[in-house]
Amino acid sequence: MTPLLEANALSAGYGAVSALHGISLIVEQGLIASVVGPNGAGKTTMLNALMGLLPAKGSVRFAGNDVTNLSPEARLEAGLCLITEKRELFGTMSVEDNLILGAFARRKLGRKSRENSLDEVFGRFPRLKERRRQLAGTLSGGERQMLAIGRALMSKPRLLMMDEPSLGLAPLIVEEMFRVISDLKDDGVSILLVEQNARGALAVSERAYVLELGQVVLDGPSDELSRDKRVIDAYLGTRGHLERNGQNVARP
Ligand code: ATP
Repeated sequence: MTPLLEANALSAGYGAVSALHGISLIVEQGLIASVVGPNGAGKTTMLNALMGLLPAKGSVRFAGNDVTNLSPEARLEAGLCLITEKRELFGTMSVEDNLILGAFARRKLGRKSRENSLDEVFGRFPRLKERRRQLAGTLSGGERQMLAIGRALMSKPRLLMMDEPSLGLAPLIVEEMFRVISDLKDDGVSILLVEQNARGALAVSERAYVLELGQVVLDGPSDELSRDKRVIDAYLGTRGHLERNGQNVARP
């Protein structure tokens, strides 16, 4: 079967500084692919290159089409959606208005479709429904992440790309986040998940890539990678790269 997303020899950087050195990856329709790696490995750079937010070399095919030269807006219209690490919500607008704006990201969606999407998102995240009139800026970290996911779903993405959705969340909320991601897949949403939380990412994904210094150093089925000694030593042990702010974030 043709992959939903296929990047080949993708390179990107910032001026003269190269941050991503010719990586290749695929995301299969209906599955989760994860990308794990330490700080500064190039994970965000990769997502921005895939979304067309950064100039890149190499090629990107999506849903059978070459999207390499398309703008970010055209990629969004084609069904690629990126939830950035910053979540980028409108803090002074209500939960509901943030969601509705998500649907406007894809201009072709009509009013009926927007209303259905809103019902679906509220069905998936009852807490957002309870708080539909609350200002987004007053939500908790977990609720903000749910809203960011809900807003992305409003644009009916064919592929959801997520940049560290567990970042900054309390352990129980991290667990809930991974459950939400898994549920989305069960409902047919294809996902490219970038995470420092390697344990959680490997547990929910079918395929995984380890990115270090802008290169894919390992890739394969997630269950195989989670048994690979190099992955265990560097990413799943109690020590290793995953020290952040004095906390080990390897466990969801
Ligand atoms: P993190 O988990 O810390 O977000 P990451 O794997 O997402 O890390 P990137 O943010 O993609 O890594 O950064 C890859 C490299 O590119 C790093 O060396 C970083 O310093 C550099 N970099 C990122 N953004 C910029 C920028 N706007 N200008 C210059 N260099 C940048």
